[in-house]
Amino acid sequence: MPVDVDPLVARMRGFGTTIFAEMSALAAATGAVNLGQGFPDFDGPPEMLEAAQRAIRDGVNQYPPGPGTPQLREAVAAHQRRWYGLDYDPGSEVVVTAGATEAVTAAVLAFCEAGDEVVVLDPLYDSYAASIALAGAVVRPVPLRPGPDGRFGFAEADLRAAFGPRTRLVLLNSPHNPTGTVLSRAELALVAELCTTHDVLAVTDEVYEHLVLDGVDGAGHVPLATLEGMRERTLVVSSAGKTFSCTGWKIGWVCGPAPLVGALMRVKQYLTYTNGAPFQPAVAVALGLGDDYFDGLVSSMRAKRDRLASGLREAGFAVERSQGTYFLAADIRPVLGADPDGPLPDGHDGLAFCRALPERAGVAAVPMQVFYATRGEGRHLVRFTFGKRDEVLDEGVRRLRATA
Ligand code: PMP
Ligand code: GLN
Repeated sequence: MPVDVDPLVARMRGFGTTIFAEMSALAAATGAVNLGQGFPDFDGPPEMLEAAQRAIRDGVNQYPPGPGTPQLREAVAAHQRRWYGLDYDPGSEVVVTAGATEAVTAAVLAFCEAGDEVVVLDPLYDSYAASIALAGAVVRPVPLRPGPDGRFGFAEADLRAAFGPRTRLVLLNSPHNPTGTVLSRAELALVAELCTTHDVLAVTDEVYEHLVLDGVDGAGHVPLATLEGMRERTLVVSSAGKTFSCTGWKIGWVCGPAPLVGALMRVKQYLTYTNGAPFQPAVAVALGLGDDYFDGLVSSMRAKRDRLASGLREAGFAVERSQGTYFLAADIRPVLGADPDGPLPDGHDGLAFCRALPERAGVAAVPMQVFYATRGEGRHLVRFTFGKRDEVLDEGVRRLRATA
C-alpha cells in the first residue's frame, strides 16, 4: 500500500483524538487543574476496593464467563429491582460489559444495518457518533436548548420530526453528558410514545443514574424502561465508573429482554469477550451497599456542583443549570467581554478558549461544541467537571478568578 494513503477507513476519518485525551494531555503538560475529563480524584467505597484486592489475592484472575460472573449479574438484577422495580432474569437478561462504552457500541453494532437512523439528543457523548459511524448508520440529532428555567430540554416538534421510516434506535442519555440535564417524565413519555408508535428500539445510557442532583419532578432517576410498553424494547446501560468512582475499572452492564441482550451478546463476545475478573465481585459488593452510600454520593456531588457554579460565576462565567452528572456548562461570552446574548468576538470560541486556558489560567476544561452533531452549535459553551476534591475545585476557581 502506498505510504501516503491514509490507512484509516473513510467512515472514521472525521474522528480525531478524543477531546478528553487532548485536554487531559494539555493539563498534564502545563500542570493545570484538570476540570475537563470527567473522572473523580477520590476513591470509591472502601468495601468495594477491599473486595477487589481480596479477589486478586484469592486468584480471581482468569477470564470470567462471557456474560459476566453470576454474582455480579445477580447484584445488577437486585439493584434494578431495588431502585426502579424492574425485574430482570440474571441468567438471560443481564450482561456485564467493558464499561458503558462497550455496551453502547455493541448495541449499535448489533441493531443497526447500514443506513438505519439513530435518534440522539444533541449534544451527544462522543463515543455515540463513532459507534453509529462504525455501524454505517446515521445520526438523527434532536437539539437540546436551555429553556426559560435555564434547563436544557428538547422541543416536542423536534423529537417528532426526528422519527421516520428509517429510524431503528433511539440512543438516550439522562442524566445527560455534557449538559447536566435530567429529562422530565413528560419528555420520557414522549420518547416512549414515539418508540412504540414507530416500533423503534431504545438504548438508554444511564451511567449517571445515581447522580441526579435535582430531580425534575421531585424524584430520583427514572429509567425509560419503566414507562408503559418500554421494557420489552429497551436495553438499559449502566456503569460502575461514575456510581462507585472507579472509572478505570471499566465495568458496565446492560439489562433488557432476552432477545435484545442476546443480540448484544453476539457482538460483544467478539469485541472484548470479557473483562475485569477481580473487579466484577467487587462491584457486586458495591451494588449492595446501603442507601447511606448512595445518598452520601448525591449530597456530596450536589455541594460540589454548587461550589463550582458559584466560583465560576465569581470568575465571570454565566453558568447554565445542571441537574445531574459530573458536569455543568458555562458560557464564555461574559468572560470575553462580549454581549451575553450576542455573537462571539471574531476568532473566539469554546475550542480556542479551552486550548488556551491551561497555559493562560492553569485550568483545563472541555469545549461543548465538539459534542454537537449539528455544526456551529454550542460554540459559546465550555464544560467543567465538579467531580473533584473541594480543594481542587477551589484552586481551579482561584486561578480562573486571578486571570478574569
Ligand atoms: N456514557 C456517558 C454519557 C459518559 O459520560 C461516559 C463516561 N463515564 C460513558 C458513557 C462511558 O462509560 P464507561 O467509562 O463505563 O465506558
Ligand atoms: N466520560 C468522561 C467525560 O465525559 C470521559 C471518558 C473518556 O475519557 N473517554 O468526560
